[in-house]
Amino acid sequence: MKPAAFEYHSPATAEEAVNLLAELGDEAKAIAGGQSLVPMLALRLAVFDHLVDLGRVTELRGIEVRGDTVWIGAGTTHAAVGRSEEVRRAVPLLSRATPHIGHFQIRNRGTIGGSIAHADAAAEYPAVALTLDAQLEALSPRGRRTIAAADFFTGMWSTALEPDELLTGIVFPVWHGRSGFAVEEFARRSGDFALAGATVAVRIDADSCVERCGIGLFGLAPTTERAAAAEAELIGRRVSEISADEVGHAATAGLTSVPSDMHGSGDYRKRIGAQMVARAWRRAVDEAGND
Ligand code: FAD
Repeated sequence: MKPAAFEYHSPATAEEAVNLLAELGDEAKAIAGGQSLVPMLALRLAVFDHLVDLGRVTELRGIEVRGDTVWIGAGTTHAAVGRSEEVRRAVPLLSRATPHIGHFQIRNRGTIGGSIAHADAAAEYPAVALTLDAQLEALSPRGRRTIAAADFFTGMWSTALEPDELLTGIVFPVWHGRSGFAVEEFARRSGDFALAGATVAVRIDADSCVERCGIGLFGLAPTTERAAAAEAELIGRRVSEISADEVGHAATAGLTSVPSDMHGSGDYRKRIGAQMVARAWRRAVDEAGND
């Protein structure tokens, strides 16, 4: 199928883009890599009279280490994130999540901002942003604001962004110290969205106790979730006394709306999710140094 006819706009700056979105209202949508939006337009699941292409907005692209954080422009492609040495060193979880996203053609076009703004519950980057406590920078005609990842994902494919607001950058804090990071997911075929997946970040103190941890869940609820209750139970405990299966169970026990579809029932997904958390926990703790 082909998309319905639309008028194409190609602003040169983020400010121009948000002004256009504000002026054109509900009939307009921003387009970045088009890897989620174009299929929706082609299938007529979405129809917009105006598309505001962010492709020429160079200020939305780039990767910069800024003190104890790494800033990534919303328009930076998955491929550029995956290639970045800075990201590999400072935000390893993001690097490790990248090869799981679709196929290389999708990673060449798709952008980190598009993935986070689209907020697919089975996508990897929203889970990474939640797990690491990223901050999301947004711009609208009313000015700039920063939204904590914890407040950003508000429901199925919905976020805290206003219709005339753009995500401009994502700020990832660097986790120093004895830290480990892992992403595990199960998909029926390489390149498919995950049926269930988990991201784990853990920092261990000098007494080998859990000092800080983040557990992200994807494909397991209507939106990306963080297993906050399970994390709280782990803080302060010696890692050698924590079983990975216990973490997997605790992180998924409270899930009540696990999606069910032709690929798998909610119950099946939940059981896989517990396994993914357990595997990711084991690998993250091994990396942090389990002694
Ligand atoms: P677009 O498709 O251009 O836009 C998506 C949405 O985000 C639109 O609503 C748009 O208005 C909005 N948007 C874009 N940029 C901004 C911005 N800066 N500010 C505010 N709103 C913005 N993703 C995964 O995570 N994991 C997968 O395994 C995976 N597999 C895929 C397999 C296939 C076959 C395909 C086609 C896609 C897959 N994707 C997967 C989706 C892919 O990662 C998309 O690139 C991503 O979800 C959207 O990024 P985009 O830049 O293409 O955004």
